[in-house]
Amino acid sequence: MHLYLHIPFCKQACHYCDFHFSTNLKSKADLVAAICRELELQKDYLPTRELETIYFGGGTPSLLTEAELGQIFDTIHQFYRVHPSAEITLEANPDDLTAEKLISLKPYINRLSIGLQSFHEPYLRFMNRAHNAAESEASVKRAQDHGFDNLTIDLMYGMSEKMLGMEESETASEDRVWQKDLEMAVALNTPHISAYNLTIEPKTVLGNWLKKGKIKSVNEELSARHFEQMIMYLNASRYEQYEISNFARDGHYARHNSSYWKRRPYLGVGPSAHSFNGPSRQYNIANNALYIQSLTEERLPFEMEILTSYDQVNDYLLTSLRTIWGCDLRIIQELAGIDLRETHKKYLNAFMDYGWVFIEDNVLFLTYNGKLFADRIASDLFVV
Ligand code: SF4
Repeated sequence: MHLYLHIPFCKQACHYCDFHFSTNLKSKADLVAAICRELELQKDYLPTRELETIYFGGGTPSLLTEAELGQIFDTIHQFYRVHPSAEITLEANPDDLTAEKLISLKPYINRLSIGLQSFHEPYLRFMNRAHNAAESEASVKRAQDHGFDNLTIDLMYGMSEKMLGMEESETASEDRVWQKDLEMAVALNTPHISAYNLTIEPKTVLGNWLKKGKIKSVNEELSARHFEQMIMYLNASRYEQYEISNFARDGHYARHNSSYWKRRPYLGVGPSAHSFNGPSRQYNIANNALYIQSLTEERLPFEMEILTSYDQVNDYLLTSLRTIWGCDLRIIQELAGIDLRETHKKYLNAFMDYGWVFIEDNVLFLTYNGKLFADRIASDLFVV
């Protein structure tokens, strides 16, 4: 089974981010206590209490002190069993990963996810990241020196200084910057890389700037070009694209994230965290003060959504199609009694004619070209 813990604090707000977090760290101790309370109250949510993966996301979980992390793990060990080979991941920002911090994380964490985003200083400043490019590189090397071999780094593409209104002559070419980012990422020799397209969400600083006309929107052509550039370069560098945004060497797939794509039940703890058990999804309140208050009063602060069989099929289509494991049509048959090859024959035939999908042993896969249209293909196959 799989456990996600949301640590909703950050040192400063990145301009593109619409995750739930607060830059006011005063309530951190109370929030950790509430998380421990929720872990206890939710101990029977999953079919078994044995945890195969634990994932600290956020926010910035590397802001947790050693004592706070220890408190959370004491609670986990009290109410759950952690499998001896469990994958235990913590998201960290480069500026937090001092030698002292890494030593304190070592007894608890066996995989680090480091949010580098870019090595290009103008982009880091544009995103309002708390670190600089030199810190990015140094943090990964320091983590490796401290025995963290199981590392993943996050990158972001689709960025351009032209979004800020600069003229061509004033900017570094976006493709060259992205190529350099990719080369620097590969040189760090981590077994896993995730890379996401910059998206501008309305309730972010970038969303606000876009509305006011201070920046231009993301250029979709540029994003598609960067996506292809990334696949070619990372594949040539022995990284397998096992999910649209995720690349691994030698089978170092992210076990926790893979569980989402394979419809495995997971428990999400902390403000804004989601949980999934097949027939329903739960959404924790995205407000630190109300979350703490609710747990202090022994109430679980979530809303539940009952998923129809069609909802379950559509969720599965959307996530599974993006992976190398593909979408198993037998699972769709089991969930909703539907044979997609019959109900969506027209679409499937068209996608096959375009060379976007193929079916092998009852499993639907995207081709290389199909990956460029993954979301559109999935939504056209949705059952309604
Ligand atoms: S991107 Fe990460 S570090 Fe930046 S504000 Fe969002 S959660 Fe915090």
